[in-house]
Amino acid sequence: MEMGPEAYTFFEQTVKEYLGEEIRSDEQAARDLWSALANITWYHLEKRYEVGYTFRAAGHLIAEIRGEGSYIDWYLCADAAIVSDKIARAMKKAGWIYDDVGEICDVPGCIEKAQFYTREGRITCPGHEPERKRS
Ligand SMILES: [Zn+2]
Repeated sequence: MEMGPEAYTFFEQTVKEYLGEEIRSDEQAARDLWSALANITWYHLEKRYEVGYTFRAAGHLIAEIRGEGSYIDWYLCADAAIVSDKIARAMKKAGWIYDDVGEICDVPGCIEKAQFYTREGRITCPGHEPERKRS
């Protein structure tokens, strides 16, 4: 999967084309977009694109589309990781599908939600948290 700037450019073009007008004129539509970006991974299988937004980056995109304010105006403006039907349909129209499941523990056979991220690049559930080395 390609996660470079062209993936984001294409993703944001899609958002602006199908949802931009509503996001500029309707604050609820802007909050819905924040929910659909924060902690969600979006994929374009044909182009092999993958994009994801932090809470802050999601707010920044909304401020940019509305042409006013900054990311802080939209930071935590709604629950994260909820994609409305309308947004799902608009994005799918251009080939984007989403994954809202989040990261899974990297231990083989374990399907618990990952909550710990180690410096070595591991992600684990609480039950598989690697023992911290004591010095
Ligand atoms: Zn686990």
